Amino acid sequence: MEIFMKRNLVLMATMLMSALTGNVYAVESAETTGEIVIIHTNDIHCAIEENMGYAGLAAYKTEMEGIYGVDNVILVDAGDAVQGGPIGILSTGEYIIDIMNEVGYDIFVPGNHEYDYEMPRFIELMDMLESEVITSNFIDMSTNEPMFDTYTLTKHNDTTIAYVGVTTPDTLSTTSPTYFQDEDGNIMYSFCEDFTGEGVYNAVQDAIDAAVSAGADYVIGIGHLGVSDVSSPWRSTDVIANTSGFDVFLDGHSHTVIEGEIVEDKDGNEVLLAQTGAKFESIGKLVINPDLGTITSELIMEYDGTDDDVQAYIDSINQEFEVLLNEVVAKTDVVLATADPQTGNRTIRNQETNLGNLAADGYRALLGTDIGLVNGGGIRADISIGDISNNDIINVHPFGNNAMSVLVSGQVILDALEMGARSTPGENGGFLQVSGLTYTIDTTVENSVVVDESGAFVSVDGEYRVKDVMIGEEPLDLEKEYSVASHDYMLVYFGDGMAMFKDATILREKVMADNEVLINYIVNDLGGIVGDEYSDINGEGRITIISDEDLEEELDEELDEELDEELDEELDEELDTELDENNDSILQLLATEIVTEAELVVETETNDEDLINNLINELFATAEELISADASEQIQDYFFYIIEDGDSLCWLAQKYLGNGNLFLELYELNKDIIEDYNKVKIGTTIRIPIID
Ligand SMILES: [Zn+2]
Repeated sequence: MEIFMKRNLVLMATMLMSALTGNVYAVESAETTGEIVIIHTNDIHCAIEENMGYAGLAAYKTEMEGIYGVDNVILVDAGDAVQGGPIGILSTGEYIIDIMNEVGYDIFVPGNHEYDYEMPRFIELMDMLESEVITSNFIDMSTNEPMFDTYTLTKHNDTTIAYVGVTTPDTLSTTSPTYFQDEDGNIMYSFCEDFTGEGVYNAVQDAIDAAVSAGADYVIGIGHLGVSDVSSPWRSTDVIANTSGFDVFLDGHSHTVIEGEIVEDKDGNEVLLAQTGAKFESIGKLVINPDLGTITSELIMEYDGTDDDVQAYIDSINQEFEVLLNEVVAKTDVVLATADPQTGNRTIRNQETNLGNLAADGYRALLGTDIGLVNGGGIRADISIGDISNNDIINVHPFGNNAMSVLVSGQVILDALEMGARSTPGENGGFLQVSGLTYTIDTTVENSVVVDESGAFVSVDGEYRVKDVMIGEEPLDLEKEYSVASHDYMLVYFGDGMAMFKDATILREKVMADNEVLINYIVNDLGGIVGDEYSDINGEGRITIISDEDLEEELDEELDEELDEELDEELDEELDTELDENNDSILQLLATEIVTEAELVVETETNDEDLINNLINELFATAEELISADASEQIQDYFFYIIEDGDSLCWLAQKYLGNGNLFLELYELNKDIIEDYNKVKIGTTIRIPIID
């Protein structure tokens, strides 16, 4: 291993493949090197078993303890541990804290998402965590004092290492400012936020100075700050450049793999910046050699070891989690569909569906934007009538994309709709289900979207297929700016090629996971029950699709009308003379005549065989109707059905009549037994028409 002097730091990203399993590392443990190892993680976001996972991390820590000595290995995390997956959401963070305690973290800096379950829960979670919690810029405004220690020290023989924590003020926008206010809107907690960044820089500098006064030989920043522009002026690079005294800064928040970067501090001294990515993409290993004054850094990308005890513990947590998954959290009176229940054909990627509307409405309601957009490919499963479990919700949105909002021009919205509609009537994962907006896709216009070699949107070179876009009641104004709620997959990562969002102004980001958005909407906005407003599985006319068939139908209708008129006149005369005797054989005779007449008329008007056949079929149908309508009293065929728990007229209409909206027909037929069509008593026997 090459050695580098302190203040001349060099990095190594290492692929470390270890065949170790269990707790076998005897050989090197007898002698220790005097070096101090700091293992760091960040933004695990509930990925408890992804990549090496917590059990792998625990094994790695034990291996390091074997090499460097138990007292010389420190394990730290730079935040965003308890949110990002169902296991975090459903236990409001607790299961993750339990696992972290089992692994044995020494130091923890809260990230913005530790606050997702709101302040009282945040405080509980930080109390449960057995590691030291530090952060220098989270202030209790009632005392003007930091809520936690601003730094902590570890001592290793005669070397003292200080750790200074800092948490991004982005927290205010990724959660809600109201989490940090009292009922009257007074600010109760602050992250030292201001427009210049000075507040955070000062808080961090005070902590560094205090740590140095307390005897620190090395000062390590542990920050949940990140390097994204949107986090300016609180990026780790900003904080390093505006303070003095850090040797190393271990970062998080932007999910960036930083093998190692040298950033100059306020005094021009070099500070080593490292971050491990997210979800155990890597774990960081920092080695300080006090004798030589060197610091080395590695990122461990792969590790095969597993700590059996931690794994067994995770298994037991998973069992408890299973129970939570099956818990009923809401109810639906209607089938929420991604497919046509009659044919089983998937519809969520090429037309409006009620589940698409529900999901898009959830985003718009949560973020209070003009419109909500959800890609059809992000809606993965139906929800059937009756109870909704946590698992049902997670199956709809299994990806855990983060809700966010942006400000964009009307042109960007039009381009996004066009990109989504470029394959219609074929499927496209980027097909947009919408809220607060209606639009028409004219599939008779050829797609002219230009994409680059990666499939990302470039331009629309011809006529737009998307037309008549309305934002609420107003036509879309291409120049005007609109707020849009969706998720980071589309708005930040430009999934499905949605690169038109690249210049969007971010309003709020990383607000909550997609599945949380959905359940929140059902529980908080709909009162826990999805009802009649979503009853039609094909939605409510937010997306209109014009196809060739529609045009043909229009033509047919026009022709039909002309034919009908001509026929009517001729027939009326015949009927007048023949109807007097009024029996079935006359009606049948008439029907035959209608058909003959129709064939003649059609032949004279067109040579299109399909059209002729269609018309003949229609006329046959008309003739049959005529016959049966007059056949004394019409017999209504129906069967008897006993109402079960969970049934509604709407559901039965959907199931047996093919359309939930026909529930009123069911009601009409059963008026004598049903008092209120909203409350059909279990055990009631009703009549349901038999349809062919
Ligand atoms: Zn974060």
